[in-house]
This record gives sequence, C-alpha cells and structure tokens, in this order.
Amino acid sequence: MKPTHDELLERFRQVFPEAAIEVEDESHLHVGHAGAEAGAGHFRVQVIDAKFNELPRIDRHQLVYNTVSDWMPKRVHALNIITMTQEEAGHAVTQWRSWMCLLCGWIYDEAAGLPDEDIAPGTRWEDVPSDWTCPECGAGKEDFDMVEV
Ligand SMILES: [Zn+2]
Repeated sequence: MKPTHDELLERFRQVFPEAAIEVEDESHLHVGHAGAEAGAGHFRVQVIDAKFNELPRIDRHQLVYNTVSDWMPKRVHALNIITMTQEEAGHAVTQWRSWMCLLCGWIYDEAAGLPDEDIAPGTRWEDVPSDWTCPECGAGKEDFDMVEV
C-alpha cells in the first residue's frame, strides 16, 4: 500500500533536515489509473532547502526522487516534485509594494529600497524607520500612502 503522509515526510526530513517540506497526497485525483488501482500513491512534494543553491534542477529532482525510489513504483506510483531555494521561494511569494508621498508625489519602492539612505532593497515600508522623511519634501511616513504600480 502507499506510504502515509507522515511516512513520506519522515523520509524527506532525514535527507533534508534543514528544509521546509510539504507533502500532499494527490492519489484521489488519480482514481482509476493503473497504479492507483494497485494501491500505489500519487504524491506532490515541495522542498525548500539551501542545499539546492548550487544544484541544477535535474540534480535537485534526482535528490528528491532518490529519497523514495525504493518505494517506486509499488507504493509510490508518481511523485510531483517541486524544489526551490529559500531565495526562489521568496521571489515566488513576495509582492513588493510602492508608497507615494501625498505631498510631493515621490515614490518609495520596497523592491528598490533607498540604498543612499541605508535602506536596503527589499525593505518593507513598515520596516522603514518611523522618523524617516521624504527625500524630496521632508514629509514624514504618515504623509505616505500605498499606491498600486
Ligand atoms: Zn514628499
């Protein structure tokens, strides 16, 4: 029979102890397939790990695949593998916003930051110091409003 969610997770944890791992049983989506009839599972696994930094995608997938290859195809019929580094995962979920000075129209872009004033690219507006002022007109943070760009 197919491994349980926890059995799979345990396997991946051993190989990727530092990773953020998500395992999802998608077997119900494949009812009627040959493998599913025999009791094998379809799974989706997402692994976010710094160790992927140096690896091309094919090697990443191999690494994940090898973790459970002894269960294939009898217990695991198919594995949908998603691999990301922390940085790639960040890009996938991050939505940068922009803030406009209501007095002069100057725009603070979170993605760009303001390196001239020691505000690194990627600094969220809420993380900009509260005593920071608009470089154009000197207005305070309370005079800025979020804008869609
Ligand atoms: Zn301003």
